[in-house]
Amino acid sequence: MSGILEGKKILVMGVANSRSIAWGCAQAMEEQGAEIIYTYQNERLKKYISKLVPDEKYLFECDVTSDTSITEAFDKIKNNFGKINGIVHAIAFAKKEELGGSILNSTRQGYAQALDVSSYSFLAVAKEGVKILNDPASLITLTYMGSDRALPNYNTMGIAKAALESEVRYLARDLGKDGIRVNAISAGAIKTLAVSGIKGHSELLKISQSETVDGVNVTKEEVGNTCAFLMSNLASGITGDIIFVDKGVHLR
Ligand code: NAP
Repeated sequence: MSGILEGKKILVMGVANSRSIAWGCAQAMEEQGAEIIYTYQNERLKKYISKLVPDEKYLFECDVTSDTSITEAFDKIKNNFGKINGIVHAIAFAKKEELGGSILNSTRQGYAQALDVSSYSFLAVAKEGVKILNDPASLITLTYMGSDRALPNYNTMGIAKAALESEVRYLARDLGKDGIRVNAISAGAIKTLAVSGIKGHSELLKISQSETVDGVNVTKEEVGNTCAFLMSNLASGITGDIIFVDKGVHLR
């Protein structure tokens, strides 16, 4: 049986390890027939993704804080794979000091770094992405409901996610003419490396679980399946949207 992504080449950015949401997305899309290309941040971190993706031809270095690194990565991807059909951006970072206590703990430098890696990078990737994306294509990023609520400890990252969600709407407006849809998945809390940077993250995961409609946390596989749908032509009418995949936690 052929899948809904048969014949599509998709770039996935943000696999740190097998717990990563990006890995859930990659696996779900592969199950639907897509060929997946990956980026990793730097040579030091390559060894982790290599355990999951042993074939070097699918791996490209890309540090999203560097325009040169992004341009080089996309040039190499184009040379090796030609045009692609979609990009999943599952990247975020803020220093621990930005993720605990009062928002007044935020610093100019920490704030700038968090927004650079977690928000601006999506725009930077889209700029290079349009050069190698087919028509139709789909751009997807990952967000969290701390974007529009003052949740404990999420702090600067909540501000970064608010900016990211706004980018989704502006990009959707401007890339629609090129056949590129742009959406975000607002995932529920899932235990990953990124989450462990948040002060009191164990508590956050417990509270989140208790607030799901069925008492069971959402999984990266469930987020991945939504990603596969949004990447596919079945979602051709959806753009500029934030899709919650959190088992109803946002209803509270
Ligand atoms: P994760 O596995 O730690 O993934 C975060 C990724 O960001 C890592 O692969 C990390 O790469 C990458 N990254 C950080 N700085 C980078 C840079 N300068 N250049 C390139 N890559 C960089 O955590 P995750 O939870 O799956 O996070 C994926 C996305 O989902 C994030 O946007 C996160 O905010 C979002 N999200 C997570 C949850 C949750 O509960 N887990 C909920 C909603 C949304 P390295 O490890 O190689 O540095």
